[in-house]
Amino acid sequence: MRYRTIHTLVCFLLLMAANIQADNLTQPVSLVPCPVSIVPGTGNFHFSAKTTFAVENEEQAVEVRRFTELLTRAAGFTPRIKVGNKKGDICLTTDVGLKEEAYKLEITSKRINIHAAGVQGFFYALQSIRQLLPAAIEGGQVVTGINWIIPAVTITDQPRFGYRGLLVDVARFFSPKENLLRIIDCMAMLKLNTLHFHLTDDNGWRIEIKKYPELTEIGSRRVERPGKNFSERRNPRQGEPTVEKGYYTQDDIREIVAYAQERHIEVIPEIEMPAHSNAALAAYPLLACPVVNKYIGVLPGLGGMNADVIYCAGNDSVFTFLQDVLDEVLELFPSKYIHLGGDEARKTHWEACPLCQARMKQEKLENEEELQGYFMGRMARYVQSKGREVIGWDELTNATIPEGFIIQGWQGYGQAAMKAAELGHRIIMTPAR
Ligand SMILES: [Zn+2]
Repeated sequence: MRYRTIHTLVCFLLLMAANIQADNLTQPVSLVPCPVSIVPGTGNFHFSAKTTFAVENEEQAVEVRRFTELLTRAAGFTPRIKVGNKKGDICLTTDVGLKEEAYKLEITSKRINIHAAGVQGFFYALQSIRQLLPAAIEGGQVVTGINWIIPAVTITDQPRFGYRGLLVDVARFFSPKENLLRIIDCMAMLKLNTLHFHLTDDNGWRIEIKKYPELTEIGSRRVERPGKNFSERRNPRQGEPTVEKGYYTQDDIREIVAYAQERHIEVIPEIEMPAHSNAALAAYPLLACPVVNKYIGVLPGLGGMNADVIYCAGNDSVFTFLQDVLDEVLELFPSKYIHLGGDEARKTHWEACPLCQARMKQEKLENEEELQGYFMGRMARYVQSKGREVIGWDELTNATIPEGFIIQGWQGYGQAAMKAAELGHRIIMTPAR
């Protein structure tokens, strides 16, 4: 995945935040993303130790408890939750007429009514209340002298997009588990529902794979290049100490996935292939084409000419290896989708590799782009045989797109993804420009 993409995604989110205007309101209502409709009322609703929630069932109580934990932590009181009761200051009522993620939130000075079809809608209504509360609610410790009020307002809301994602690139910049949980919490507050977890790249392999321990023993460590920008960092020399490190154990991954699930966020793992694989190949160099005769190390920066060190498409051990890796990944991530990468594969070694050339002949492939199509298609069929769907970057449009691929557009202004859409493929639009 191109390095610039992550910055673009973050900037996009910031722009969305800056553009929200709370027009026509007597009191400031600041919500991101902006709800479909906001109608101002009069006065404020006041949260206190006496506030009670009335919920219909335990499922709703779970959602409300997660919200009241914020008050416990920041305000020092915990509203009561009455299950199976219709009388309370804040009432949750199921309305099956609403769409899955939609909600209606009526706040008056006396009470709050929340309507939704199910837990996701209630969760998002509670996130809106969270944003309407004083900012101290996010402080993480009890603050005194705060009036825990929210303005009277009626909000009707539902998402415009089904896939509301954030890509986190922990391969280039490892982020400890604690930071990731905080990121997930902030995503929830912004009603995002998909975390694209970029776990492997030239610059680090960040997920423990029991069958191949060297992926993390070697692949999660790299040399330091202090004071240098990512694009300026020299490639490693053999024998240089690898002091920068970090990866998630399988227990860490389970905790991250569960934490996200509780917040209605699907975590989609990305295992890059055939390129962006220097970290894996540093650990298992025999999986590169046999014509590669230079040292393969985990790259501290962009890597320059090492971008052509990629998995060999003619070596069956590569497919066995990747299937074994995916077996463990599928076990850890219950997501409907698995991202297989597929971007920026330079074919110079494939052109010179006898194994790759033999594969092309055997499979009657016209060129190396079609060889990549073969590679991605073979891996996609494996993932699909396990009941999951596959996502790949928009370079897959360079050859025949393997069946069933959802194409994620990053190049240019998204033209390649549009081409895939015209061919009937589903797309995720994240153009870097
Ligand atoms: Zn090869």
